[in-house]
Amino acid sequence: MSRFLTPALAALEAYTPGEQPQRLSQYIKLNTNESPYPPAPSVRAALTDEVLQNLRLYPDPTAKTLKEKLAALYRVGPENVYLANGSDDILYFSFLAFCQDGAAFCDLTYGFYKVFADLVGVKTTVVPLREDLTVDVDGLCAADGTIFLANPNAPTGLALPLSDIRRLLASNPNRLVLVDEAYVDFGAESALSLLEEYDNLLVVRTFSKSRCLAGGRLGYAFAAPAVISDLETIRYSTNPYNINRLTLLLGEQTVEEEAYYVDCMKRVMNTRAECKKDLEELGFFVTDSRANFLFCKSEAISSAVLYEKLKARKILVRYFASGRASAYLRISVGTPQQMKTLVDTIKAILKENV
Ligand code: PMP
Repeated sequence: MSRFLTPALAALEAYTPGEQPQRLSQYIKLNTNESPYPPAPSVRAALTDEVLQNLRLYPDPTAKTLKEKLAALYRVGPENVYLANGSDDILYFSFLAFCQDGAAFCDLTYGFYKVFADLVGVKTTVVPLREDLTVDVDGLCAADGTIFLANPNAPTGLALPLSDIRRLLASNPNRLVLVDEAYVDFGAESALSLLEEYDNLLVVRTFSKSRCLAGGRLGYAFAAPAVISDLETIRYSTNPYNINRLTLLLGEQTVEEEAYYVDCMKRVMNTRAECKKDLEELGFFVTDSRANFLFCKSEAISSAVLYEKLKARKILVRYFASGRASAYLRISVGTPQQMKTLVDTIKAILKENV
């Protein structure tokens, strides 16, 4: 720490992202919930020489084309759409802008919520998940401040039905409810259909998972025009060119390829079901995940040890060293072949463990 750092930030505990190995080909990478499938061929083809030459120009700060395409795909108005450099940026802005009365979220949820709250000095209410890892909706309804809910939740993968989201929105019309739908495309119900009814809803999404574009950094959100306008004010007060030209173009082309991505999602969901069954046959407890990852644990081996042993065999999964999550592993769903290798490797580790 330098002597120049403002004292208010001296104790900030930063988020620790999952490992991103430089020599990718040596690993089966199941640790940061990326898609195992590449972007659609037409998306890859969009990066022409002309496009690269135009990198000398700034991007369109209004991102008009991409906003309109997303609005058409999801049947909302362009004034309901916000775009960002990854959805993390939207979460950050929301903590910055909408948390005058504090923020409420679950104890076991996306780790960045606490980091952002600490960064901007927001008072938090942490509502523990129930024993079965489900969200305590009544607890969130009773809490003060803006609600941050990942649905499906991460890292548990469990999803709430729309009726519960509606209950949260109705519990206090004067507070914002942010529903983080990073993983919604893998089998959960989206809150988007409630947008017309509730002006206190902010739905946050990303191209990083179901749109196979984590490296492009593209997030988006849907809300009432007034909420979008607040986010735009902050964006224009920080970085109006927050999405680079290449990513804008890739995003536009991605929206044109819905069928390709729906197919990728189906493949991930099928592989998830197969792998869940395989792990259960090995004695694992595995949650009923609606995301592109599995959350699991074995009575036969600690998650910390299994994580290390898998890593030694060049398979990366996610282990959270502290808190309630430390009993579990979070394993991203890869290709069927990758998951077969994972299961075979776990079998071998369990054998040498007895
Ligand atoms: N929300 C949740 C629940 C996540 O797990 C992630 C990915 N780590 C994000 C948001 C952020 O995704 P991105 O910034 O890649 O859009």
